[in-house]
Amino acid sequence: MDLLQRDRQAIWHPFTSLQAPEPIAVISAEGVWLHTADGRKILDAVSSWWVNLYGHAHPVIAEAISNQAKNMEHVIFAGFTHEPAILVAEKLLKLCGENFSKIFFSDNGSTSVEVALKLAIQYWANKGVSRNKILALEGAYHGDTFGAMSAGERNLFNKPFQPYLFDVAFVPFPEDVEKSIAAFDQYCSQGDIAAFIYEPLVQGTAGMRLYSPDFLEKAFEIAERNGVIMIADEVFTGMGRTGRNFASDYISKSPDLMCVSKGITGGFLPLGLTVVSKKIIEVFDHSDISKTFYHGHSYTGNPICCAAANASLDLLISEVMQYNINRITAKHSAFVAQLLGHPKIVRLENLGTILSIELKTNYGQGYTSGLRAFLYDFFIKENILIRPLGNIIYIVPPYVIMDEELDLIYQKIQLMLQNLPAEN
Ligand code: PMP
Repeated sequence: MDLLQRDRQAIWHPFTSLQAPEPIAVISAEGVWLHTADGRKILDAVSSWWVNLYGHAHPVIAEAISNQAKNMEHVIFAGFTHEPAILVAEKLLKLCGENFSKIFFSDNGSTSVEVALKLAIQYWANKGVSRNKILALEGAYHGDTFGAMSAGERNLFNKPFQPYLFDVAFVPFPEDVEKSIAAFDQYCSQGDIAAFIYEPLVQGTAGMRLYSPDFLEKAFEIAERNGVIMIADEVFTGMGRTGRNFASDYISKSPDLMCVSKGITGGFLPLGLTVVSKKIIEVFDHSDISKTFYHGHSYTGNPICCAAANASLDLLISEVMQYNINRITAKHSAFVAQLLGHPKIVRLENLGTILSIELKTNYGQGYTSGLRAFLYDFFIKENILIRPLGNIIYIVPPYVIMDEELDLIYQKIQLMLQNLPAEN
């Protein structure tokens, strides 16, 4: 039996209908390339769901993992500690700046969000203050666990679960900063908002939509005045993706909690980190055990994941990766300039290594747009992996992508624009 038959018999894939077309079997991956069982070479233009920063099978991370596995694969993280985790915490705290104090470990992006939300809620409980409401941005996506779903937009993804999600207030997406800030101000002044959670500067799943740092500058002032906790979900935007180490680095104020995952291990292993500020820590650092944060996962602080993260954090700040990030940023900007005014494009944006193009369509907007299948299939046939968000395509490549490989993607985008269905 071949791989696809065995897959069909035994596997249920994420975010995929059981009636979807067959997946593509990959047998190895190297740099930006996926090698398939049927002998093709596909360019991974989306860093495999935004996790892979330095190319597949990067030897430095592979070796760090191998060395760690041979020495100590895992130990309980309550009552015990180890250097791989200490190093991750030290390195990340150094990158995040002096507002932060400690790192809480979990397993993925959603759990890093759950931890942040729970810390924000318990912060107020520990202080004996009743503040029960979470505020988020319209269109938000923070993950698929219940807390993370609650903080996200109500849509097709979470429809069956909506009666079980806790109530969250949503501020309009800051297309119009003044309007969004007015709504933000109004919510914050009600006195019941515990925390505001946001994807800084770029909403990923909502369609790679960018917004102005000005909104966050103003939101920080209002939040500070009203004591609202600011939670930056940097699961996608962190680790150099937006051109700075974290998108929060574009803002003059620092958040109270920051969620980090995806690229933290360079795309090798799952790891979630919640970066916690001094302000939050102070309220938990208490002899009264009812103020302890009772949260943990079996694999918290897994040393092998930490070894990958340590190698990844060193690679991120290396001269060559910083150069690559700037190089991709400049290439994207030049391509955007080339496409400006294109009749089939309604929105065209780039920030750092992110390039986002929204296409004009009569096939419906958003994730379920009829254009999606055409776009996905078009690029896959051209051996480029792009996962359109409905009528929106985006590129978030591994930072090791070469100029010629970027040019190849740009050429295929031009070709797609020429081949869009006539009635579109
Ligand atoms: N937050 C953001 C901004 C994300 O983009 C994602 C995943 N795409 C998550 C949280 C959830 O991360 P995970 O899929 O690792 O649970």
